[in-house]
Amino acid sequence: MTSVDNSRLIDALKGVLGPADALIPLHEPRFAGREWELLKDCLDTGWVSSVGQYVDGFEARLAETCGAGRAVAVVNGTAALHMALLVAGVRPDDEVIVPTLTFVATVNAVVYCGAVPHLVDSEMLTLGMDPAKLGRHLERIGTRRDGVLVNRETGRTIRAIVPMHTFGHPVDMDRLNAIAEQFGLPVIEDATESLGTLYKGRPSGSLAPIGTLSFNGNKIVTTGGGGAVLTHDPVLGARAKHLTTTAKVPHRWAFDHDELGYNYRLPNLNAALGVAQLEQLPGFLDAKRALAERYAQALEGVSGLRFFREPAFARSNYWLNAVLLDADDEAERDRVLQATNDAGLMTRPVWTVMHKLSMYRDCPRDDLSVAESIGRRLINIPSSAKHGLR
Ligand SMILES: *Cc1c(COP(=O)(O)O)cnc(C)c1O
Repeated sequence: MTSVDNSRLIDALKGVLGPADALIPLHEPRFAGREWELLKDCLDTGWVSSVGQYVDGFEARLAETCGAGRAVAVVNGTAALHMALLVAGVRPDDEVIVPTLTFVATVNAVVYCGAVPHLVDSEMLTLGMDPAKLGRHLERIGTRRDGVLVNRETGRTIRAIVPMHTFGHPVDMDRLNAIAEQFGLPVIEDATESLGTLYKGRPSGSLAPIGTLSFNGNKIVTTGGGGAVLTHDPVLGARAKHLTTTAKVPHRWAFDHDELGYNYRLPNLNAALGVAQLEQLPGFLDAKRALAERYAQALEGVSGLRFFREPAFARSNYWLNAVLLDADDEAERDRVLQATNDAGLMTRPVWTVMHKLSMYRDCPRDDLSVAESIGRRLINIPSSAKHGLR
């Protein structure tokens, strides 16, 4: 097993990124469009809060971009996941299938519904949920009872599957949807990292009945903080809107709320930023794909690692670029992290796998060995769109 030649790696990264005086961040936003103009319009007209033309415009443009029937803008991606799970019918004491290799929000949202995360493994090809392994696991632990799938080890109903498209690379959705159909489970796409990604030519976020997006400051498009629920189903879309607006029954003056709702609306100010950012999405995608191409070439000559490339069925947004070290060895990974950060290049390991966090240690789960190995081998490298514009 060859270890990484850190000085060759640093030279290759610097060759792609160009000279820098300060630490090169992992990902920074870019405001090169109409951001100032649209934000000023909000202030000039007084429409800064939870309703306004930019909220409507942002939602319409998102739905169009993602090929979804409807988009409901919310305060962040975590809230979008929470709402998506609720409208999908997740109830207290259900189990929801989630990858152990994800950002913690995917799993937290399950617990916000009173449900129990059920952790499954990833595959090397996509870094996301492994459909074949999931199928074998459900075959082993699942049993049909009164028309629902029950985990025979815990007695709880398995209610939904939430795949996440890691760093913008889509999971194999046709195979995953086939498994979901076989077991009668709805799929909710966590597309918070994959706005603009195509799977077999179809946009991520609309490859399942419900999808979610995030517009946090580090995502490919930002509203400061923000998110959205996407759906093809007008009934689910209306319900998501209702739940995020305190379940208020529309009326000119009466305050009637017909169920427990949430104040999860995205303010017009943030939506204005989103409209200006979405206008630049095609340019961001070109820049990020160009950056990935340059990394792929520059890293070819560096032994001990490989640049992670999109699967053949994908046209990824390359939100965060990644390398996989040959050595399955955390100490080796940490040496690379140390050397690159010392050299002024911000690099990061992937998230700690969920089953290693104290609150999720005892969750039901499958074998998680591939996700663990990815965790020991993966390093994210600087990925801002501006580096692709050079
Ligand atoms: C960004 C992200 C979210 C949502 O994050 P917010 O900061 O709440 O917008 C959820 N899941 C994953 C995998 C993410 O990367």
